[in-house]
Amino acid sequence: MRIILLGPPGAGKGTQAARLVERLGIPQLSTGDMLRAAVAAGTPVGLKAKAIMDRGDLVSDEVVLGIVADRIEEADAQKGFILDGFPRTVAQAEGLDKMLAGKGLKLDAVIEFKVDHEALVDRIVKRAKETEARGEAVRKDDNPDVFKTRLEAYKAQTAPLSSYYASKGDLKTVDGMKAIDEVTEAIKGILGR
Ligand code: AMP
Repeated sequence: MRIILLGPPGAGKGTQAARLVERLGIPQLSTGDMLRAAVAAGTPVGLKAKAIMDRGDLVSDEVVLGIVADRIEEADAQKGFILDGFPRTVAQAEGLDKMLAGKGLKLDAVIEFKVDHEALVDRIVKRAKETEARGEAVRKDDNPDVFKTRLEAYKAQTAPLSSYYASKGDLKTVDGMKAIDEVTEAIKGILGR
């Protein structure tokens, strides 16, 4: 299965993606994780992306499309994948369409997490506290100021993907304000497994 999880930062995409990985046995492809790994490793992509990510803006379509194109060629992605945080612009969605069409593949579902944007800042603050309590490093962009920029980037550049996929008939929605288990059940209902 090839699935896209669409929704603003803090909507719960990562949490649900982790559950889908267990249930479906396909990898989660998070462009945020891939970019953070590139930053940590100091690769040319990481060096380009770091300042952009720290301020909460979007990395260029060209860079992101490049890392996704490489990643979906890997062996573990051949059975399918869960895209988390990608695509984030219409240009990325079009690029993905081309990539998949070139391989004779199709998307199975685009699942949009509907959330109250006002509640997201609180979620992010909570996520940062929980991460700290586990003794792990808190993401630099998980603070209220940068978060506002990330949310603005979502509204301006990613929200249009909802109608992009709706017009293709691929879009399904879940209520991301519900409890984690309820969202999981809703996704099971959509995917039929
Ligand atoms: P995330 O972990 O998905 O919240 O992503 C963290 C940051 O990585 C974002 O704020 C962007 O700076 C960058 N990023 C992740 N995915 C993308 C993408 N598909 N397009 C552009 N920038 C991205």
